[in-house]
Amino acid sequence: MRYSGLSLKGRKSVVRVSVVRCTAYDETVLDRALDVSLDLIGGLESFVSAGQTVLLKPNLLEARDGESGATTDKRVVGLLAEKVLALGGKAVVGDSPGLRYRGAGETVLRETGTRAYCESRGAEVVSFDNTEIVETRIPDAAILKHVYLAAAALEADVLVTVPKLKTHSLTVMTGAVKNLYGVLPGGQKTLGHVLGETKETFADLLLDLYALLKPKLAVMDAVTGMTRSWRTGTDRIEPGLLLASADSVALDAAACMLAGISPFDVPMLRRAHERGLGVADPAEIEIVGDGAGARIEGFAAPARSLVAWPFLRLFASAIKKEDPRVSPELCDRCGNCLKACPSNAVRMTDSGAWIELDACIRCFCCHELCPRRAVEIDRGWLGQRLFGAR
Ligand code: SF4
Ligand code: SF4
Repeated sequence: MRYSGLSLKGRKSVVRVSVVRCTAYDETVLDRALDVSLDLIGGLESFVSAGQTVLLKPNLLEARDGESGATTDKRVVGLLAEKVLALGGKAVVGDSPGLRYRGAGETVLRETGTRAYCESRGAEVVSFDNTEIVETRIPDAAILKHVYLAAAALEADVLVTVPKLKTHSLTVMTGAVKNLYGVLPGGQKTLGHVLGETKETFADLLLDLYALLKPKLAVMDAVTGMTRSWRTGTDRIEPGLLLASADSVALDAAACMLAGISPFDVPMLRRAHERGLGVADPAEIEIVGDGAGARIEGFAAPARSLVAWPFLRLFASAIKKEDPRVSPELCDRCGNCLKACPSNAVRMTDSGAWIELDACIRCFCCHELCPRRAVEIDRGWLGQRLFGAR
C-alpha cells in the first residue's frame, strides 16, 4: 500500500500500534485480546500506577449498543476498568452523547448497558451532562481558546480514550482523537461546530482539545464499526480488531492505513502531525500483532452532496430551527447564562434573563448550565411535529 506522505525533518522515532484480531464480544475472547494488545505496547502497567484515577472515555454517541457498530462496546470499557482496578487504580467511565435533551447522558449509559456492566466491574460511571463542569482556557489553542468541559477529564491522573471505529462526514473518520470531543457536555459540542465550521478549522479545534487533555493511552474497539452514513443494517462493518497505542494520532493513522486511506488525507491527522501532536506518517508507525496485515473493507466517508441541494438545505434548516427561550417565572436572575454565553446574547432585565436571538449561535450552554431549568428550547413548527416539543 502506498501513501503520499509528508516527511517532516527531525522525526526519527517509530511509534508502535498493536492490532489484534478479536471477532466477537465474548468476554473471554475479548479479555484475552485486550491483554495481548496492551502487552504489545508495554502492558497496562506502563500507563497506570496504583492510586491513580483513570478516566476511560468511550464513544457513547447514542443509545445503540456496541454490537450495532455505533458505540464502544460496554465490555471493552468494563474489562479495561477491571484491569485498572487490578493494578490498584481507580476506574472512572464517562461520556456525553451527541443528543441534546435533558437526561440524554443517563439514557445512553443505560440503553448501551454501559452503566450496569461497568459498575458490575467496579468502575464509577458518570454522565458528563450531569456532572461538574469547569471553565478552561487553552492559551496556545488555534481555535478553541475558551471552553467548558467535564471536570473529570482534567482531574484524572490518566486519560484513556476508548473510541469506536467509525466514519465521519466532517473528519473522515472518528477515532481516538475525535472521541475526546465527548468531554464537552451537550451544547458545548454545538459551539465547537460553530467555531470549527470547516474540515480544517474543526480539525484544529479537536487538536486544541487533544493537546489540553493529552490521553496517555488509546484502545480502539474495531470489533464492529460503522461506515458511510451509519445506516442500521447496511453500514455496520465487522473488522474484528482491537487497536492500542500510546499515541492516539498514530492509532487513528494505523486504522486509516488498514482501511486503505492515507492518514494525510484526513485533515485532523495531517494537522496533528504538522503541529507535532502525534505521529501520522506511515513511515514512522510500526504496526504489530496478528491483525497487522488485516484489511478493513468498505470503510468510506459518507457523501455530503445531498446537503448541497438548495431545497434540502432549506428543509434541513426548517427542521433544525431551535431557539433558546427563558421562562421568566422560573428564572431567578442568577446570571449563569450571562457568564456562560460565548456570544454575549444574554441580557439581564428586572424580570429575568432574556436572549437576543440575532446574536445567539445556538450553542445551548445557557440551557445546559441553568440551575433553575428556566431555559427551554423552542423548536419550529416542523421540528415540533417531527421530533416533538421540548
Ligand atoms: S441561568 Fe437560568 S436562572 Fe440563571 S439567569 Fe439564566 S435563565 Fe435565569
Ligand atoms: S444565548 Fe448564548 S449561551 Fe444561550 S444558546 Fe445562545 S449563544 Fe448559546
